[in-house]
Amino acid sequence: MSECIFCKIAAGEIRAAVVYRDDRVIAIEDLNPQAPTHLLVMPVAHYDTLADAAEDGRLTSALVAVASRLGRERGGARGFRLVVNTGPQGGQTVGHVHVHVLAGRAMTWPPG
Ligand code: 5GP
Ligand code: ZN
Repeated sequence: MSECIFCKIAAGEIRAAVVYRDDRVIAIEDLNPQAPTHLLVMPVAHYDTLADAAEDGRLTSALVAVASRLGRERGGARGFRLVVNTGPQGGQTVGHVHVHVLAGRAMTWPPG
């Protein structure tokens, strides 16, 4: 059995606040939110990173489409931010690709 925490969430083995789900994509509330809206949009199937998932262009476009729609719903005209941390120096701490959707406050640049 997979030891991946997000695979377990997608399989319903670990509880999460699910805000969207279809055959291939699931979106949940982040456990440690960094903004008033902080969602994680991920594939049901396991890919380590965005670079790996990019082999399936339809999947990555589905991730961006769901994340953008949720960002628009939550951020409205004020906007939102999508973030995909990739690899250790990219700040990725969970090795199952996910798109952060952040909204509800002004974001700063550059990111840390
Ligand atoms: P990363 O650092 O890989 O870009 O993002 C991982 C995110 O997953 C973090 O924002 C962290 O708060 C969130 N996270 C880690 N474990 C869990 C969990 O068990 N449930 C939920 N909902 N979020 C988690
Ligand atoms: Zn996984």
